[in-house]
Amino acid sequence: MAAERIEALKQEIQKELPQLTDTEAVDQFRIRHLSRKGSIAQLFDEMKHVPPEDKPAMGKALNALRQFAQQAMDEAANQLKTASASADDAIDLTLPGRMQRRGHQHIVSRTIEEISDIFRRMGFSIADGPEIESDYYNFEALNFPPDHPARDMQDTFFLDDTWLLRTHTTPVQVRLMEKYEPPIRAIFPGKVYRNEVISARSHVQFHQVDGLFVDRNVTFADLKGTLVSFARMFYGSSLKYRFRPSFFPFTEPSAEMDISCYLCGAKGCRVCKYTGWLEILGCGMVDPNIFVNIGIDPEEYSGYAFGIGIERTAMLRHGLDDIRLLFENDMRVNHQFN
Ligand SMILES: [Zn+2]
Repeated sequence: MAAERIEALKQEIQKELPQLTDTEAVDQFRIRHLSRKGSIAQLFDEMKHVPPEDKPAMGKALNALRQFAQQAMDEAANQLKTASASADDAIDLTLPGRMQRRGHQHIVSRTIEEISDIFRRMGFSIADGPEIESDYYNFEALNFPPDHPARDMQDTFFLDDTWLLRTHTTPVQVRLMEKYEPPIRAIFPGKVYRNEVISARSHVQFHQVDGLFVDRNVTFADLKGTLVSFARMFYGSSLKYRFRPSFFPFTEPSAEMDISCYLCGAKGCRVCKYTGWLEILGCGMVDPNIFVNIGIDPEEYSGYAFGIGIERTAMLRHGLDDIRLLFENDMRVNHQFN
């Protein structure tokens, strides 16, 4: 009778062993079978009711059962411990994550895109032109007299007598006016080249975005309205602006546009050279001579043009003081504009 009960309990315990998969289950098992009021202790208690001659055998069997249950439970607990230790090795959730560096646009590309977006919203389309230009498009059609200093070998990469690397994006306006009837409203971003000594302020290759609007009755007020809207959208709505008279061979009158320095609140700083003003672009009304060169009637049409230096814009916006930083591909620099 007693031997049967011990055997039944052993089978019950064996059935439970596969369920000892967490510390809670192990604990419950210990309480149920191995504690002072557990199932094995209860059978020990009942020994007082068995006949004395059966006691040694029953005691032996019970001790064996207790040993078996204890061993099985210890093994399960040990396995749990090892498993959780190796899991700790694999994933430590308290460690800081490994940052995955994402690619991003170069600051020059992004500046071009932001400027283009603003003008696109104001109804301008985006045009393109060749980087290898003829003397005609780069200079002659734009009113540069033959002795103009910009034609000098110092400034221009000439490929031969006719061809050169364009020194500005302005030639695209000639190509557009040749190809399309007014109204024409476009901007043309791109690379330009100058034969200059590379320094903090100048480089042999940089970017510009030129713009052109030609239609009937276009006035200087239209030019101002468009460029002030652009500056406020790009640099901030609270800035002050001014237009200073200037000179470009292809516009008449010509102006340079300044905005109040947003870096120092126009109080004067290193970037604005203590003037409180930042020069952001050149502009003017298309010189009637250009229209005549191309075959557009200056009595019927008028227009304005402007040009913005991309690197200069990016440098102003991000407080960089060396243009070379934009072209050296130093990832420590590039990643700052993520
Ligand atoms: Zn300033």
